[in-house]
Amino acid sequence: MKRFSKIVAAALTLTMSAMLLAGCGDSGSDSGASAAQPSAGTASAASTESGSAAPSDGAVDPDVQAIIDRGVLRVGVKNAVEGFGFQDTLTGEYSGLEISIAEKIAESLGVDIEFTTVTAATRTELLDSGDIDCVLATFTITDERKESWDFSTPYYTDHVTVLVEDKSGIDSLADLVGKKVGVSSGSTSARSLTSAMIDAGLISGDGFDAETFDPALWTEGVSFQQYDDYPAISTALSAGEVDAFCVDKSILAIYHTDGRSYIEEEFAPQDYGVATTKGSGFSAYVEDLITAWLADGTIAGFISENNLD
Ligand code: GLU
Repeated sequence: MKRFSKIVAAALTLTMSAMLLAGCGDSGSDSGASAAQPSAGTASAASTESGSAAPSDGAVDPDVQAIIDRGVLRVGVKNAVEGFGFQDTLTGEYSGLEISIAEKIAESLGVDIEFTTVTAATRTELLDSGDIDCVLATFTITDERKESWDFSTPYYTDHVTVLVEDKSGIDSLADLVGKKVGVSSGSTSARSLTSAMIDAGLISGDGFDAETFDPALWTEGVSFQQYDDYPAISTALSAGEVDAFCVDKSILAIYHTDGRSYIEEEFAPQDYGVATTKGSGFSAYVEDLITAWLADGTIAGFISENNLD
């Protein structure tokens, strides 16, 4: 498979060189730069509508070229977030908004795609180690995260809420005072919930600092238990190990089974962006595509195909 990809990539590179020498761009674009784009359709749409996915001198950025040469775009996605990143356990096929966006990015590059299932805790390690090129995994854009990774313009906005067992009698944020809440390691959830409870005047904000907030250390009116993945939190909720399960509503949906309910409130808007290595030329490439697809309705189409609107 690797060998096959290399051969395809080599052929592509040769074809592209020939196209460049011949001065022939792809027919759908008004930008000479897109001659260096391996796939006519989408990249040229991005080039046409939002400037250029390639630098103005017509050269393909080396980070983008490296992916083209490899012949495969490696993407970190979720596997149990219905409508976003969901893997069919029988067929192994992935589907959802984030899968469709990732596939379209690969199509623009003219390469194959390889999905790696990530969690909130592993997605950044895999990006940092170079095992994956980008993350489309309900990854919320925050100021602190922007210091470490590049994020595209958001392609979707969700909110945080809390799932409880009906028998707990918990209905609202107010009922969570004094309770222990299950959250995922590496997520924004604990901070979002604490902040919402402070804003609602339910708990004291003394000692709360959004930038340095550590779920493991917070005990002021609500406490947290961190888990590596969401199935583990769901099991802990059933077992009564935690009183509630807090994360983005999109992620909670699959665990919202009989005998469980959401609390009344939704809070803390979560803007999902495509994360790439900080300072990488691929970041700019992705940003151009996402902004073009937001403008031309492509992403809105994926959102409605996945019943997310
Ligand atoms: N979207 C939230 C975050 O990025 C929740 C965690 C998750 O995506 O799994 O922190």
